[in-house]
Amino acid sequence: MLGGLLKNSSFLSWVDNKKHIPLQKINNSFKLNIIYLAIMVNYKDLGLVNTREMFAKAVDGGYAIPAFNFNNMEQLQAIIKACAETKSPVILQVSSGARKYANQTLLRYMAEGAVEYAKELGWEHPQICLHLDHGDTFELCKSCVDFGFSSVMIDGSSLPYEENIALTKKVVEYAHQFDVTVEAELGVLAGVEDDVVAEESHYTKPEEVIDFATRSGCDSLAISIGTSHGAYKFKPEQCTRDPQTGRLVPPPLAFDVLAEIEKKLPGFPIVLHGSSSVPQEYVDIINANGGNMPDAVGVPEEQLRRAAKSAVCKINIDSDSRLAFTAAVRKVLAEKPGEFDPRKYCGPARDEMVKLYKHKIIEVLGSDGKAE
Ligand SMILES: [Zn+2]
Repeated sequence: MLGGLLKNSSFLSWVDNKKHIPLQKINNSFKLNIIYLAIMVNYKDLGLVNTREMFAKAVDGGYAIPAFNFNNMEQLQAIIKACAETKSPVILQVSSGARKYANQTLLRYMAEGAVEYAKELGWEHPQICLHLDHGDTFELCKSCVDFGFSSVMIDGSSLPYEENIALTKKVVEYAHQFDVTVEAELGVLAGVEDDVVAEESHYTKPEEVIDFATRSGCDSLAISIGTSHGAYKFKPEQCTRDPQTGRLVPPPLAFDVLAEIEKKLPGFPIVLHGSSSVPQEYVDIINANGGNMPDAVGVPEEQLRRAAKSAVCKINIDSDSRLAFTAAVRKVLAEKPGEFDPRKYCGPARDEMVKLYKHKIIEVLGSDGKAE
């Protein structure tokens, strides 16, 4: 039976069966466990929410929740501002790359700050979820659950089917004890996203989804129907070219596979990764100001709009905000080569991202006004 940690202003001691044991007298590994327990935090204490209710409403309402990745303050400010102004629920995603870049602890406190910032902006009941994107081990997911994340993804999609189920189930059993929701993945997306790399995509097999969802107990399922990670989602040979503009036209998403999955799992929340559209205007600004991104191509917004109206209730967008940020920074630096104050180029980059996020929320996902 565990005791409890007694804190007062001058010392810490472990209280067990009414005996106070000073921390100095406890062995080191037990001490570490005690300290771990003392600093664990549940997301509810940070003002965050899990995805359960968000997804139930999105499935019923025929819209999708935006899942935006963030790595720095400007991105987070832009996401919160856009969501507060449109009253859109939002999933803040932290990838393993973001954890390495910005530090998991810092990101968690930033998310906590984001809730307060949202209120300051006049958003009375912010619906903000903090989500681990592409967790690849039980230990990583556990650590996120223990330190304030309200949702985690366990990506076992590269494992054999039974191993994917077993790993997902283990994460679900742990996370559900703390009311943290779990996203799993079945099928493989092509492309590159931080540490997630796959050459070829393999569509999710509709005949597997009932068994997978039932046995793993996951709360939502990321599927592969032709979306792809990164800013180069399709190779030129997979696309056709618009004869007028010379630009690549990507192949359509496999809506027949999505419909089959929806039929097998009616009302079950489906997630689309790799769903940036790679706006041509940003690619053009980047290329016109010293960049080099030939043949960058994404998923047309029209197709995402269609997906958002179906069982798809979470759409992941990362590359588009990177492009908006980079385009704005390149433009400022090209026009004002003497500029050296980061606020003078990160500020315009932030404004551009606010515009992008609002556009996605209102024009593509339909999530505006869903979290008053
Ligand atoms: Zn992804």
